[in-house]
Amino acid sequence: MPRRGLTTAPTARTIRNARIPRTLLDEPPAEFEADGEDLVVADIAIAEGRIAAIDAAGGERVAGDIDLDGGQVWPCLADIHTHLDLGHIWQRAPNPDGSLETAFGIVAADRLAHWRAEDLRPRMEFGLRCAYAHGTRALRTHLLSPPEQADTSWGVFRELRDDWRGRIELQGVSLVPVEAFADGDGEGLADLVAGCGGLLGAVCFARPDIDGLFDRVFRLAGDRGIDVDLHIDEALDPGQKTLRSAAEAAIRTRFGGRVQCGHCCSLSVQSDDDVERTLDGVAEAGFAIVSLPMCNLYLMDRRVDATPRRRGVTLVREMAARGIPVSFASDNCRDPFYGYGDHDAFEVFTQAVRVAHLDTPVAAWPRSVTATPVDVMGLDSPGLIKIGEPADLVLFRGRGYSELLTRPQADRVVLRDGEAIDTTLPDHRELDALRAAPAR
Ligand SMILES: [Zn+2]
Repeated sequence: MPRRGLTTAPTARTIRNARIPRTLLDEPPAEFEADGEDLVVADIAIAEGRIAAIDAAGGERVAGDIDLDGGQVWPCLADIHTHLDLGHIWQRAPNPDGSLETAFGIVAADRLAHWRAEDLRPRMEFGLRCAYAHGTRALRTHLLSPPEQADTSWGVFRELRDDWRGRIELQGVSLVPVEAFADGDGEGLADLVAGCGGLLGAVCFARPDIDGLFDRVFRLAGDRGIDVDLHIDEALDPGQKTLRSAAEAAIRTRFGGRVQCGHCCSLSVQSDDDVERTLDGVAEAGFAIVSLPMCNLYLMDRRVDATPRRRGVTLVREMAARGIPVSFASDNCRDPFYGYGDHDAFEVFTQAVRVAHLDTPVAAWPRSVTATPVDVMGLDSPGLIKIGEPADLVLFRGRGYSELLTRPQADRVVLRDGEAIDTTLPDHRELDALRAAPAR
């Protein structure tokens, strides 16, 4: 493949002997032969911060090249469902019983006591710094948006989006209970979100009036030309079928924007007939789905003095088989909804493979934290390794998937525009000043 003369540029270098998941290559060259795990071995030439060529491995090594000795290379990651505004309050607001219900109450108290810009900004930025160091280039965060909070949180979000442009592309979604759209309400919130270039979102559980509420959400978003991202059916009650209701509403209202639905846990405990009907609707509506396996494992089937039996991860393989786009994402980090988490989309992928048995075969699934979420976010540069695109790459020591997914790959190298970034993670001690107990 011609190098187009770019390798003589001052910043030129080649990553040699890289294993690349074939599904993460844009138009894999025909001469590439994938191995049994659908990995190809290639040399990736970088010039002036962009991918200049992708050749079969074996070219002559020169000074400045990186020899990966068979380690994998992925495009930088996208984390499409997070909660930066909630992040890292665990020290002052732990969840004593680990339940979803308790978490809602603790968060409400913490928010009222603390969530001013000077508290939100350092916590949200801490999350972004973690994500960046782990190799993330795009991130969508939900923002709790009740009337007394929305202006503050969206104001901080806008500042951070500007400050981080070029490092992490940031998208924001409003987060309110879906009943906030009852009785003609929600107009002001939709205006605020649209004015901030965000997405309209809500937490949705079954209610008698859910159809009308969804119609309203889609109409408010449609009128403003903004996309929708919903928390749906985060429960193990088979009676929760709001995902199907949302799909029907989007079809009924002829909503033209993108829709992503997160969680969808109740699908995992419903009958085959119910699942079929709902997935038919989701496919027809063109929804994308995001699964949050780490948070689901933490919250679902949580009982006092009992071991969880039902794990709540939605039916990602059945969805993918129907052509429904499926992503995986971090969700909460170190807050009452999830006591752990480090904004590492690769860790999420590793856990997702194990939890959802994505390894038979794993080949298509690396797209679930790269190409698929980037596509759902509608970003300009694809989440693929492609000639002409910025050399935003994650270099791993792991070669095959057993090596890759056995260790946390904490020694990964992250290239942005072809240059290695500092992957030192921020120290949790930096947050000590924010630990004061909430005023009661
Ligand atoms: Zn969430």
